[in-house]
Amino acid sequence: MSMDRRSFLKSSGAAVALAGLAACGAPKKDTPAASAGEIKIEGPMLEHYPGIGVLGYGCMRWPMTKDDRGNEVIDQEAVNSLVDEALAHGVNYFDTSPVYLRGDSERATAEALNRYPREKWLLATKLSNFADASYENSVKMYRRSLETFKTDHIDYYLLHSIGSAEDFKRRFEDTGIMQFLLKEREKGTIRHLGFSIHSHKEGFDSMMELHPKYHWDFVQIQMNYLDWTHAGGRNTNADHMYEQLAARDIPVVIMEPLRGGGLASLTKSQTALLKEREPDRSVASWAFRFVGSFPKVLTALSGMTYREHLEDNLRTFCNFKPLVEEEFELLEQIAEEQSNFPLVGCTGCQYCMPCPYGINIPGVFRFYDNSVVEGTYVKGPEQEKYAKARRRYLAEYNKAVESVRQADHCISCGKCMKACPQHIRIPRELKRIDEYIEKIKQDLL
Ligand code: SF4
Ligand code: SF4
Repeated sequence: MSMDRRSFLKSSGAAVALAGLAACGAPKKDTPAASAGEIKIEGPMLEHYPGIGVLGYGCMRWPMTKDDRGNEVIDQEAVNSLVDEALAHGVNYFDTSPVYLRGDSERATAEALNRYPREKWLLATKLSNFADASYENSVKMYRRSLETFKTDHIDYYLLHSIGSAEDFKRRFEDTGIMQFLLKEREKGTIRHLGFSIHSHKEGFDSMMELHPKYHWDFVQIQMNYLDWTHAGGRNTNADHMYEQLAARDIPVVIMEPLRGGGLASLTKSQTALLKEREPDRSVASWAFRFVGSFPKVLTALSGMTYREHLEDNLRTFCNFKPLVEEEFELLEQIAEEQSNFPLVGCTGCQYCMPCPYGINIPGVFRFYDNSVVEGTYVKGPEQEKYAKARRRYLAEYNKAVESVRQADHCISCGKCMKACPQHIRIPRELKRIDEYIEKIKQDLL
């Protein structure tokens, strides 16, 4: 039986009532943060589970720079500085994977975290055995994570991105790796064993049915105010997943609280509605307040590439203000409107990249979705200054995505399809966008 959010909140008790609050305050003098520049954030970091900040660090979007040869590399100095600020303010859950940032995220995250005593940070990493799910390769991947972090335990270990019951069976049960991981948990090398999931409802439910067998310690789901009841496509609504997890008392880790950044920029009228209520808060802060208002949320991951993101989120989670019923309703209204936009819904995770034909898949989708949300797309000859709007749109498209990497170069080979956790039909969506662009070019709208 499914409960709506309102009745669910009522039955589980409002988040505030259950939320614990941990000391956050200013950076301590004995940390490297003391010299990294102080953020004026006041109040304690929100905790729903003792010792774990509800704001977690997603380490798949670390800042990049160029090395001496002009190659793009992780900006380690910037990462260290971000980690300093985060730890000093009560963010202590760091989520990475052996495949993030072309395999370099774990190394950079480890380098930043290992400047601190092990008990100061919680490591979450994953068995990302997509390309080779064999027992040997999976064990190797797991051991490499332990070595990279120079640690004898992983706090939160995830079976990465379960796509369906068959996917779980193929990658984890049939290979025998599940038995290995259960033994590692018994030994204490894995402190908590769980999974992340991007699946249809049947896939999610079948993983729940396995709870009595495997005793999932936590589960990572995509949850935000849009996916709450408007997940769309093959994805499962977050209200169903949250309810199922809460009923089993399984802590919930949130991914995509901002839906790939989409909920950080809304239409002008939606932004005005939020600003009217909270003039000093960012649009993004509403999405974080939404997930932080649920008591079973262990942590909500945010890929804070820049200091402004971190600072803004700290303002939200230190001295946290949970949403009140009226604010939930306001977000529901915005979600309803958003769900009617013809958005692709790409979160920019890059799992589909590189395309063998050079298409900048997330770049094309980002440009298109932004133009829809911001209202800058070309509507048709009836619109005011139509010719100018066409010229501007095409120029902006060329600026956003190099011409050789645009949608018209996709040959629909389908190689990218399986990788997309959002189940986006990538070639079909690229074709739809290309047809739209062609109509603008040829003045056929
Ligand atoms: S379907 Fe298009 S975007 Fe996907 S891999 Fe093939 S050419 Fe690239
Ligand atoms: S199309 Fe899918 S896999 Fe590719 S970046 Fe977007 S969400 Fe990620």
